[in-house]
Amino acid sequence: MMRGLTIGLLGMALLLGSLFRADPAWATPSSCRNTGNFSHWLEGFKKEALANGISRSTVRAALSDVSFDPRIIKLDRRQSFFSQDFLEFSSKLISKYRLKRGPQLIRKHQRSFARIDKQFGVPAPVIVGLWALESDFGANMGKDRSLRSLATLAYDCRRPELFGPELMAALKIIDRGDLNPSEMIGSWAGELGQTQFLPTHYFNHGVDFDGDGRRDLIKSVPDLLASTANFLVHLGWRRGQPWLEEVRVPRSLDWREADIAIQHPRSFWRRSGVSYANGGALPNDNLGASLLLPMGRLGPGFLAYDNFKVYLEWNNSLIYSTTAAYLATRIAGAPPVDRGRGEIQPIGYKEILQLQRLLARRGHDVGGVDGKLGVKTRSAVKTEQIRLGLPADSYPTPDLLNLLRGG
Ligand code: CA
Repeated sequence: MMRGLTIGLLGMALLLGSLFRADPAWATPSSCRNTGNFSHWLEGFKKEALANGISRSTVRAALSDVSFDPRIIKLDRRQSFFSQDFLEFSSKLISKYRLKRGPQLIRKHQRSFARIDKQFGVPAPVIVGLWALESDFGANMGKDRSLRSLATLAYDCRRPELFGPELMAALKIIDRGDLNPSEMIGSWAGELGQTQFLPTHYFNHGVDFDGDGRRDLIKSVPDLLASTANFLVHLGWRRGQPWLEEVRVPRSLDWREADIAIQHPRSFWRRSGVSYANGGALPNDNLGASLLLPMGRLGPGFLAYDNFKVYLEWNNSLIYSTTAAYLATRIAGAPPVDRGRGEIQPIGYKEILQLQRLLARRGHDVGGVDGKLGVKTRSAVKTEQIRLGLPADSYPTPDLLNLLRGG
C-alpha cells in the first residue's frame, strides 16, 4: 500500500511469484550513489529522534543493533514494474480462494464489521478486498525486519525524504506501546500489518478497536479492520456511496467522455445509453461518476464514483485500484465482469514501453517510461487518438502505435 511508489504491486508480485510476467529488471531511472557512512548517519538519526521527543529507551531498543542491508537496496533498485491488461491481471489476483474466503471472513467478524460500518461507513467487502490483496488475509505480511529496512531506505540516497519520516514514525509506534521492535516484521519496504500500512499511516490512522490499549495491525483483526476503514475515511471515503459498478456501454458513444478525469451525473450516462451490466437502467440522478473502460471501448466498462478515487489514493496504480475495487464488488456479490466483445487487440509490455517513448518524444508526460498503462499514459494516448482521428477511448491499440511510429 505504498501510494505513489507501486511497491504494493511488487509486493503482490512477490506474493504471487511466477504468476506475474517478470519484467526484465526494469531499472528505475535513479542511479544515485551512497557515499556516506551508515553508522555515522544512524548516530545523527538517533539524535534527531531524541530531539523529536522519542524516548531514550525506544531509540536504544529500536536502533542499537540496526545495520545496513544491501539486499533491501537491491530489491528497491530492481523494483520491477509489470504490464498486464486488466482482465489478465484481475483474473490472477481475484482467485476462487479469495472470493470464497472473503465472505467467510465477513461472517466470522460480523460484529466488528457492524461496528465499523456504524462508526466509519466503510462496507466490509471493501476492507476485505484490500485485506486479500495486501496480505492474503494476513498469510503473507512479509518477513523483513522493518526497522532494518526503513533505516536502510532512509539512509539510501534515492528517497531519504520519504523513508526518514517513515523510520521516525516506526519509533513513535514503539514509543506509544503499540508494537515492540521484535514484532516489527513486514514487507522489505517497511510496510506493516495485514493491510500493509506505512509506519506514518499506522501511527496517524491506526485504531485500537479491541480495546486492549495497543494498536496492533499485525495480530489483532478488529484493530486492522478498523484501522483500514479509518484510513479509507481519511482518504475521502463517503458513507453509503458506491465505488465501482459494472456497466454496459453502447457501440457508439463520444469516447472522449470515457475518462477517469471526467465526471458526469449518472443521468448523463443514462441518456448516453449506458446501462447496468444486466441491462437495468441507471438511476436518473445527479450522483457523479466517471466512465472507466480499463481496456478501451471493446472491453469491460465501469462507472467509477468518488469512492473509487480513494482506491487511487491507497495505491496510485490504476490497474491495482480497478482490480481492488472490482474485487470488492465481487465479494459483495456482483457477477464476474463481462469480458468485452472479444475484439480487443492486446498490446504487450514492450509495445507499451515503445509507446511511452514515442509519446514522451511528442512532449507528453507519461509518468515515466515504465511499461505500465497508468492514468498519465492513458491521458496522452487519448490526446493522440483525438489528433489522429481514432476513437478516443484512452486505450492504445497496435494501430495507434503504428501511426506514432510513422511520425
Ligand atoms: Ca488493540
